[in-house]
Amino acid sequence: MQQRSESSREDSPNTKQISPNPTDGAEPLYAEVAVPVHVSSTFTYRLPVSMQHLAQAGSRIVVPFGRKFVTGYIVALREGLQQGTSLQESDIKDAKELLDVIPLVTPELLELTRWVSEYYLAPWGEVIKAALPPGISPTIEQFLSVTARGRAELSESRSADAQTIRQRLLRMLSESGEIGLAAVSNQFGSSQATKLARELERDGVVEILQRPGSEFVRAKYQRRVRLVQTTDDPVVSPPVSPPLGPPLNPIAGEGRKLSAAQLRVIEALRGHESLALSELLAAAEVSGSSVSTLQKRKIVEVFEERLRRDPLGDATFERTEDYQLTETQESVLAKLDEPLRARAYAPFLLHGVTGSGKTEVYIRAMRVALELGRSALMLVPEIALTPVFSRRLRMHFGDKVAIFHSSLSPGERFDEWTRVRNGEARIVIGTRSAVFAPTKDLGLVIVDEEHESTYRQQDSPHYNARDTAIVRAQKESAVVILGSATPSLETFHNATTGKYRYLELPDRLGQRPMAVAEIIDMREVFSRHRKPRIFSDELLQAIEETHKKKEQSIVLLNRRGYSSFVLCRSCGESIQCPNCDVTLTYHRSEKVIICHYCNHREAAPSKCPSCDGSFIYYVGEGTQQIEEKLKTLFPSLRIARVDRDTTARRGAFERSLLDFGDGKIDMLVGTQILAKGHDFPNVTLVGVVSVDAGLALPDFRAAERTFQLLTQVAGRAGRGDRAGKVLIQTYHPYHYALRHASAQDYAGFYEEEIRHRQNHTYPPFVALASLLVHGTDIVRVRAEAVELRKELDRANSERSARILGPAPAPLARLKGEYRVQLLIKCRNRHQLRKIIDAALKSLSERNVNLRSINVEIDPVSIM
Ligand code: ADP
Ligand code: ZN
Repeated sequence: MQQRSESSREDSPNTKQISPNPTDGAEPLYAEVAVPVHVSSTFTYRLPVSMQHLAQAGSRIVVPFGRKFVTGYIVALREGLQQGTSLQESDIKDAKELLDVIPLVTPELLELTRWVSEYYLAPWGEVIKAALPPGISPTIEQFLSVTARGRAELSESRSADAQTIRQRLLRMLSESGEIGLAAVSNQFGSSQATKLARELERDGVVEILQRPGSEFVRAKYQRRVRLVQTTDDPVVSPPVSPPLGPPLNPIAGEGRKLSAAQLRVIEALRGHESLALSELLAAAEVSGSSVSTLQKRKIVEVFEERLRRDPLGDATFERTEDYQLTETQESVLAKLDEPLRARAYAPFLLHGVTGSGKTEVYIRAMRVALELGRSALMLVPEIALTPVFSRRLRMHFGDKVAIFHSSLSPGERFDEWTRVRNGEARIVIGTRSAVFAPTKDLGLVIVDEEHESTYRQQDSPHYNARDTAIVRAQKESAVVILGSATPSLETFHNATTGKYRYLELPDRLGQRPMAVAEIIDMREVFSRHRKPRIFSDELLQAIEETHKKKEQSIVLLNRRGYSSFVLCRSCGESIQCPNCDVTLTYHRSEKVIICHYCNHREAAPSKCPSCDGSFIYYVGEGTQQIEEKLKTLFPSLRIARVDRDTTARRGAFERSLLDFGDGKIDMLVGTQILAKGHDFPNVTLVGVVSVDAGLALPDFRAAERTFQLLTQVAGRAGRGDRAGKVLIQTYHPYHYALRHASAQDYAGFYEEEIRHRQNHTYPPFVALASLLVHGTDIVRVRAEAVELRKELDRANSERSARILGPAPAPLARLKGEYRVQLLIKCRNRHQLRKIIDAALKSLSERNVNLRSINVEIDPVSIM
């Protein structure tokens, strides 16, 4: 790429932002454009005269890139080429089309995405794209259309019936008008198609048109009709034709009588501000022509109204009475109030067990932000949690609440985004990417359940929404609250060092006691029965007792599917995913075995694929099996299962929760998704079948995760006036994560865990980065990893960082690719970045393709 500009990210004196109507000064001649491709630099384009006075930083712009056109984002404008650049005027291409007159990306978001791209080493254009609702940055598709000259060529060739590819394509085009380049590629192969298209365009026989791709989303409009206001309107007088009197239509003046159909239209509109055209036609039982006649005669008006696609539909929400805040809640709120009013950046950790009234505090703080004319943003870790919270927020703030998450339809997302961009919605609730909501004057940011790993984006750009939220609050002088019952080690550490202010809601509301948790030693159960058991007698008995009292229970197992292994008794082989280094999980209801990483699925075998033996058996139970067994053991119980398989359908999870809340279900069986954020007063038993698999993961956060999961799920029990019971089955009864979780002792766990982190130099004592080399050719992957290590060592000549690896990643093969990992630990974060940057730079200078190296800064898991 010759257009790469070296230090484009740094602000230079000749970078300027211009107002839409510049009054004086030179027009910018060049735009610095971030392109959503896997390249880390930005690119310089020349602005044609027509765009010079319109272009602004933050606007989308279509630019030539390689052989295609792409939609990029203007990140800066320049009057001249940057000093000291090696760019030649002749290297620079013209921008093709400016898509926005008003910049889509606000200056705040431009700044935030720049930070994300630098901090996480992600291409700026990719980050901006991720920050916008999908479909708003259309991929530009190319369409071919035959020209007059092309038609002439075709008719000449008809006689001589030579069938070259060129002629076949021309014929196709002349028969079907426009054809997308993608379709041409399908027909002729992609390299052939591009070559052909270029050649034909050069010869002037086809034209290449650029169009937004089909994923493009737009605002939705509805046609509506209203009566034109006329005072004491003779038009709408009774539908009898008076022999004399004033003309029926004073505007048309001719006194043409209205038809019966037209009168019905007028009748139907009467008493309504306006009606949707479709509604009107149905109500008046007329066709569109009656309306258009009335429109021509200026009796009615047809107009377009922007429709809002609301994710919560037309559900209405009753405003409930405000609670009298408790004294602790009041004092917490007072601490938040002060910096909010002062418009100062202030980070807080709000440490409170579930049910301690955190959400109520969030709501009151939001109210303050609104009163000050500012906006608030609340992040939640799971889509499944948005309905619960958005309902609660809608109750308080009505239409001012916008909802952002990825299972909304593109239309809904676009509309919610627009409402926020226009300042109509001042409260945003959503998952990860909502951190980029284009709020006006952001005053308050809340990250609920801040410890959740779902805040980290698994695909590129790898950002952590919690950390991005903190940086955003800092840049926009906002208050940020990290809320959790089990804060992440980093966050709690920051609170102990004074980097965050610590707020606590130590008690459950209404003096409800914390549940008593009991650890059940499954080794004992095994020796008692001389065979492995899924359920201990204690758990079965507790279930029995709970339901006798008409109370509810939750049973958790952190593994979906039916069985996690399929083994052959003859040869001992387990069935592996062909693409990944994991075993396939048996899903009994569909009779298939599935890879939980790449979703590969095949029919469940009746014979061993290795030795043809017929003694296939299944090991390791999943939620499907637990559900089935419990249904057999307790036939009278109404049991529902909640895991990623059952919640794939939109609304399914919400349905189960509502039914459970209404008492239509007695027991929920499921994965960790059950552990979060719901309040079921009638649940008095939580059974944990096993968390041992999670505890054994080769990841430094395994203990922390397990502790969090157990504490959260234990918090589900005994929420009403009845005490709850929590039973945790395990083969590791003395593990400190389990001990402290069963005692609901966060401080105790933190003390022990932070010592481990310090002794083994893990975060928060060091900054950590994971560099994963991946590819289908293991030899190449290994060689590249070795080269990477060499470059890292060279960059680390001062030995300030500790470099581990290369070694096979714990998940050594994924989706058909081998994975080799290097870990870098460094006490100085800045230094860490410098080493990685330097190593990657020299690799790319040696023409190693950096696409095969996946860099994660602050990885939440090193699997
Ligand atoms: P958390 O977010 O910490 O789990 P919530 O704010 O959801 O806690 O509060 C738990 C329950 O207590 C909710 O049902 C909420 O409506 C109720 N609640 C919150 N604050 C009060 C209060 N001051 N007085 C009475 N009930 C309250
Ligand atoms: Zn797989």
